[in-house]
Amino acid sequence: MTLTRRHTLKALLLASAAAAAPGISLANSKPRRVIPWKNWAGTQSCTPAVRSTPKNIDELASVIKAATGSVRAVGSGHSWSPLVPTNDTLLSLRRFSGMLEHDKANNLAKFGAGTKLNKVGPALEEQGMAMFNLPDIDEQSLAGAFSTGTHGTGLELPALHDCIESLTLVTANGDVMECSRAKNAELFDAARVSLGSLGIITDYTLKTPDLFKVERKYWLEELDSALERGEQLARENRHFEFFYIPYSDMSYCYTTDTTDKPITAVQPEDDSVVDTMKNLRDMLSFSTTARRLAMKALIKSVDLPPSYVEVPWRTLSTDRTVPVYEMEYQLPLETGPMAMREVVDYIETNHPEFFVPLEYRYVDGDDAWLSEFYGRKSVSISVHRYREGDDPWNVFTKVQEIFRKYDGRPHWGKVHNYTYEDLKSVYPKIDDFKKVRQELDPEGKFLNDHVRGLLGINA
Ligand SMILES: Cc1cc2nc3c(=O)[nH]c(=O)nc-3n(C[C@H](O)[C@H](O)[C@H](O)COP(=O)(O)OP(=O)(O)OC[C@H]3O[C@@H](n4cnc5c(N)ncnc54)[C@H](O)[C@@H]3O)c2cc1C
Repeated sequence: MTLTRRHTLKALLLASAAAAAPGISLANSKPRRVIPWKNWAGTQSCTPAVRSTPKNIDELASVIKAATGSVRAVGSGHSWSPLVPTNDTLLSLRRFSGMLEHDKANNLAKFGAGTKLNKVGPALEEQGMAMFNLPDIDEQSLAGAFSTGTHGTGLELPALHDCIESLTLVTANGDVMECSRAKNAELFDAARVSLGSLGIITDYTLKTPDLFKVERKYWLEELDSALERGEQLARENRHFEFFYIPYSDMSYCYTTDTTDKPITAVQPEDDSVVDTMKNLRDMLSFSTTARRLAMKALIKSVDLPPSYVEVPWRTLSTDRTVPVYEMEYQLPLETGPMAMREVVDYIETNHPEFFVPLEYRYVDGDDAWLSEFYGRKSVSISVHRYREGDDPWNVFTKVQEIFRKYDGRPHWGKVHNYTYEDLKSVYPKIDDFKKVRQELDPEGKFLNDHVRGLLGINA
């Protein structure tokens, strides 16, 4: 039995078969009527009056101008939060896909906004370039990932949207606007992370470093030690993160660093340990002490996968197959260990049913106004609730309270119930964002109820 990254990930994983293919399945660009939509996890749904997959900017502008009611964009439908649902017009930019231009001399590449992350790495590799970082999965569209502040791990590596050099946006009245640090700079600060609320983004030009190779190494460490040494490990390695395995005191750690070594085979993944964790929970729920002893013995007995060398897009993202709800907050770097300890203590004291590993990552700060990492290096803590029929808020209510105490900022795409009143104290630029938004879209075309709540805008 081998404990691989996927063992811990499987506990975060599993595309619910019922979640069907998220997003839009229309074959042509003509707006059509009444096809229900649901997200990847099957936890959000809507029945839009119009679903459209325009094939160029002119068609997109016409659909936006003709639309009555709200217009929302969907990427790959991988957000848990209700960012996408609308009963009016739902737009997919899946036809705005692929690499449009590249400039190797200046390390730039332009992609359609609907391009999935898993198509970006291979396209860049062909040109001798790469994405600087990736999240746990790569099913998201570029626009969906950037618009919610999606990130990987790395104390010196900001969230993905930091690699945007410029972008193109179609506004409520059909105008096409380009922005970058040099052109429409305020719009650029607002648009990189904008929750689909400024308009529809059609393409991005990205900073793309030369292709590099990375080496992945795994080990196990006591949670207290991982928390104590984590910041140092994150400073010493390009990527460091760990998964805490509930009721074991043990963390599954790994680093990923650039290397010149030759590429080696990636270890095939095997999910059996996660099933064992669930079985132990079921068999030993009468005794936390017995469960902890069994968990520790199990974790310490597994063979860790050998280190390996690959290009980043084959290494940094994997598949997720376990049906979960996920809450994730970004916390100031120095408060991460205290918050994590408190969350673990709360869960292990109150929730014997809990068995899904918690993820602990590091992310550099940036300057996009609604970035979860605006102005601060952060620790990112994810708590996954296995979908077994009970209400995830049985756990999330207290966990969110702990994150609030430490000035946490919720991941825009994951489970939280913050509104403008909660957000304004942790997002110093939220009112600047609202001002830009109001000027671009005074009628509120690009809002739904959830986004209105986030921005404190009345219907
Ligand atoms: C299994 C799993 C693993 C995940 N792992 C990570 C992780 O490691 N790190 C992390 O940070 N997050 C992670 N996430 C969260 C995920 O990256 C975000 O929720 C992301 O927004 C999903 O991208 P999407 O393409 O599915 O966007 P959607 O969920 O479809 O949309 C997200 C937002 O983008 C907007 N949008 C989409 N297209 C456009 C457009 N063309 N113009 C304007 N707005 C647009 C939508 O309106 C919406 O507001 C994970 C999610 C899942 C389900």
